[in-house]
Amino acid sequence: MRENGLVISIDGTAGTGKSSVGKAVAFQLGYGFLSTGEMYRALAYKVFEKNVAPEDAQAVLKVANEMVFSFERQPDAKLHVLVDGVYLGPDKLHSEETGNVASKVSTHAQARAVLTAKMREAGARGGIIMEGRDIGTVVFPDADVKIYLDASAQERANRRFKQLKEAGQSPDYDKILASIQERDYRDSHRAASPLKPAADAVIIDTSDLTLEEVIAKVRREIDKKIH
Ligand code: C5P
Repeated sequence: MRENGLVISIDGTAGTGKSSVGKAVAFQLGYGFLSTGEMYRALAYKVFEKNVAPEDAQAVLKVANEMVFSFERQPDAKLHVLVDGVYLGPDKLHSEETGNVASKVSTHAQARAVLTAKMREAGARGGIIMEGRDIGTVVFPDADVKIYLDASAQERANRRFKQLKEAGQSPDYDKILASIQERDYRDSHRAASPLKPAADAVIIDTSDLTLEEVIAKVRREIDKKIH
């Protein structure tokens, strides 16, 4: 075990509850929780801000190399991703558009390597739950516990629809579903670090489970390693 504890990876498609589960379990354990998608989202935001084409691998790499990442643990266990000392915040990072650009900039292998190195630094001492697409396969192939969360696209679209409605917006279910399917396709068909479960990952289908049930299942896997 590393000096601060285990390295736990949670991978899976968008909207399966990786962040809610990871944050809750990290809080219980006194660990940090890092959503690596926020790093790709921050890169996407910078690419957008600098008017760089997301398809231009070299230009995206240049932006990635210029970003200075740091991490700041919040009381709820979440590690805020700071870029050049600034937390960009949920409005910039979590818009549908930033998510889409993120899934484009994240197809470039060299830019991925830059962010992957930062993720490894963040987790080097352990005591961390890291959530993403390739944490158990590429970033930490030696993670102590590997979880892979999945759920049907329809169920994930339902959840997103509800979230947006509760936030006072008027979401369009069909558009949400199409965007989820498009992102899934891009994430799992790209050449560089495609989304797939690690051979030694525990796969949990969350379609018919409550958040509490998923948290309990993940805890059981972790407790096997702690005790
Ligand atoms: O998880 P989230 O939706 O915030 O991730 C945004 C995008 O970043 C994903 O669609 C994916 O393309 C990319 N990503 C990735 N590898 C990770 C985390 C996120 O390629 N480890």
